[in-house]
Amino acid sequence: MKRLQTLLCPLLAAAGLALASGCATVDLVTGQDVQNMYTLDEEIQLGRSFYGEIVKELKKEKAPIDQDPVRVALVREVTDHVVAVAHATNLDYKATFVGDPDFVNAFALPGGNILIFEGLWNPKEGLVETVDELAAVVAHEIAHVNCRHSTEAMTREMLPNLLLAGAAIWAEIEEEDDAQLILAGAMLAYNGLIVTKYSRVDELEADRVGMMYMAQAGYDPAAAPRVWERLAGATDSQLEKTLSIFATHPRDYLRAKELRKHLPEAQALYEAAPVKRDGSKKLADLPPLQNAKPAAQKTKKKDSGS
Ligand SMILES: [Zn+2]
Repeated sequence: MKRLQTLLCPLLAAAGLALASGCATVDLVTGQDVQNMYTLDEEIQLGRSFYGEIVKELKKEKAPIDQDPVRVALVREVTDHVVAVAHATNLDYKATFVGDPDFVNAFALPGGNILIFEGLWNPKEGLVETVDELAAVVAHEIAHVNCRHSTEAMTREMLPNLLLAGAAIWAEIEEEDDAQLILAGAMLAYNGLIVTKYSRVDELEADRVGMMYMAQAGYDPAAAPRVWERLAGATDSQLEKTLSIFATHPRDYLRAKELRKHLPEAQALYEAAPVKRDGSKKLADLPPLQNAKPAAQKTKKKDSGS
């Protein structure tokens, strides 16, 4: 254990130094100091390269990208309205529609790209039914982007990665098998206690900030807790097909409850919004999906992020 301490101290000091120097920045949404080792420009570059990779994968699976004009126009319109009231105006915002009815999902990449899948409003297993509810999901994703949750999480994960690398090197030099075990335990504790908890906090923040955005953009914010209440009551088969957007304990009602707590504030913003949108429109009334993915080529996909 003494050896472990001699190893950990300099490593922790190095990681702490790396985190403290050069990556302190001001949160765009809260105005508070946060740690982020990426600049906004780097974040945009990172998001572009992730987006390129994801589109390549989707094309390999013959998923139709931006091919249904009505739905593409709808997700872009909702995104534009939400982005117009968001905190960061200089990001590379872009909404992409993927016509895959089997994937109940939406997610944001760093820097402003969001992806929305047809399965989100699939009448059998989807979780949103109206334009207002779609706006709740889009606004949640745009909130993640503005809060810079992806790169903040990557910054947080730098410390355990450094520790793991150090442990591997040390174990090799000392040829001590238990060194890796001890460090593996420490890593698990770190990830369980800090990273996961923060991710949950990030989700709650994106829920709240997103509800304020949708209200300011003229969508009825009461739709937001409704979506999360529907999720809490989702069936096993629905949950199988979901859901990075709904990550972390999807079945509990805490998120909907938290949203209800902040609803009066959102409603005041909605009342003050210069334009009210016709958000009660049912998504089931959209014309049939064009260029749907052929049934024979459908493959099951796993989710890929928040
Ligand atoms: Zn989320």
